Amino acid sequence: YSIKELLKKGTQCLNEKVTVQGWIRSFRSNQFIALNDGSGQKNLQIVLDYNNFNTDLLKQLTNATSIKVNGVVAESKGAGQEIEVIAEEIEIYGYANPEEVQETILQPKKHSLEKLREQAHLRFRTNTFSAIMRVRNALSFAIHKYFNENNFCYINTPIITGSDAEGAGEMFTVTNFNLNNIPKSDNGDIDFTKDFFSKKTSLTVSGQLEGEAAAMGLGKIYTFGPTFRAENSNTTRHLAEFWMVEPEIAFYDLDKTMWLAEDFLKYCIKYAIDHCKDDLVFLNQRFEDEQKQKPKEEKTEHNLLEKLDFVLNNSFVKLSYSKAIEILKKSKPNQKGKFKYPIEKWGADLQSEHERYLVEKHFKSPVILYDYPAKIKAFYMRLNEDGKTVRAMDVLFPGIGEIIGGSQREERLDILKNKIEDFNIDEKELWWYLDTRKYGTVPHSGFGLGLERLVLFVTGMGNIRDVIPFPRTPNNAEF
Ligand code: ATP
Ligand code: MG
Ligand code: MG
Ligand code: MG
Repeated sequence: YSIKELLKKGTQCLNEKVTVQGWIRSFRSNQFIALNDGSGQKNLQIVLDYNNFNTDLLKQLTNATSIKVNGVVAESKGAGQEIEVIAEEIEIYGYANPEEVQETILQPKKHSLEKLREQAHLRFRTNTFSAIMRVRNALSFAIHKYFNENNFCYINTPIITGSDAEGAGEMFTVTNFNLNNIPKSDNGDIDFTKDFFSKKTSLTVSGQLEGEAAAMGLGKIYTFGPTFRAENSNTTRHLAEFWMVEPEIAFYDLDKTMWLAEDFLKYCIKYAIDHCKDDLVFLNQRFEDEQKQKPKEEKTEHNLLEKLDFVLNNSFVKLSYSKAIEILKKSKPNQKGKFKYPIEKWGADLQSEHERYLVEKHFKSPVILYDYPAKIKAFYMRLNEDGKTVRAMDVLFPGIGEIIGGSQREERLDILKNKIEDFNIDEKELWWYLDTRKYGTVPHSGFGLGLERLVLFVTGMGNIRDVIPFPRTPNNAEF
């Protein structure tokens, strides 16, 4: 049994002989071990009669030490636990020296999240981080389940790519050059023709364009993979390496896509609630404790579980960019009554303070903003009849800001070509993409969700570095 399975079976297993293994979380009174094997939030209590074990072994039952226990399941008198295991034999796998443990986050006390990040390789053993990882796992699984239940075909788009049309300076270049001998052309630029790929190649910033090509044959597809962006700012919402889910659907317009995004998000959140109860109860407690420390104006109205519940049970607000601008122009976001970047006029790009104002203060609900000015969105978005807005949408979540970005794609070859020219992109680079509009083009749409932003929302955490095993940020790529 894993400890989770055993605790779930509870008194059904009374008197059964079992073997359990795990890491010691605490050892009290020479008698009670709290054992955890990572399968769940709850520890299993191991009870031992110290007269039956030699003192050498007892001395080694320290925090973080890993053990195997053979014993018998008994009813527990302790509060909050149905059963415990009476140990008959204990075997030590790996002893952890308390003096050394003291230097690490395995020392049982409350450590700051910053401290956990410094020892990212050890934080899988902590209550908080292991809970987050199990929720992340449930959400990843829910994503695959949702799309497969709805007949989407899972495809893998390339990680090394030659198309940098979307990059906008955020791409990591991939080469096989010897760093001590990078070939340069006469004008001093790097000569990529001498590279193994003979072309400038980069790590993918999005699988969308390739995903569109796949949807133009398979109908409904999704990709779900690592995505790389050389984000040059340090924020709590951006990583240099993150996991993105991108569905792309032939014959879908923007309305259907907004509906899909909402249905999909609710499905994933519900799945996590149904499958990670203990972890979410734990994270909720953590969230509430943290709220208590905050100044009044920063406190949220709802706790984590209420927040999740609210999202499940209410329709997202749908609002055009133009209406959003009207609201933002009139609003007084704080005591000073001003945004840091006041909205001057229609056409301005929204900053996260604006998005968060709409979601957290004005509507107090997730919001889907749509029909953005063409100038501030990517070249491939479907131009509206007004000639100045495109069928783009962003899903904005409380506490997060943008969680999904999507659009209906420009399926008309001539208009797409004009757009490519307007955006100063070399058409030749996109010859294959344009082909998808030549041979039986159809209206189609899709969106991208950053997995980590969804995990942030569901776990109530505040920093994206705390919801991915080994965060890649400008100053962190050591391990
Ligand atoms: P933002 O405005 O927050 O920078 P974006 O508009 O640049 O995001 P998109 O290109 O629309 O992002 O990508 C789709 C989704 O991928 C976003 O809605 C977000 O959930 C996620 N995402 C984008 N950039 C990052 C990043 N650097 N780290 C983590 N997730 C990201
Ligand atoms: Mg961005
Ligand atoms: Mg954005
Ligand atoms: Mg976006």
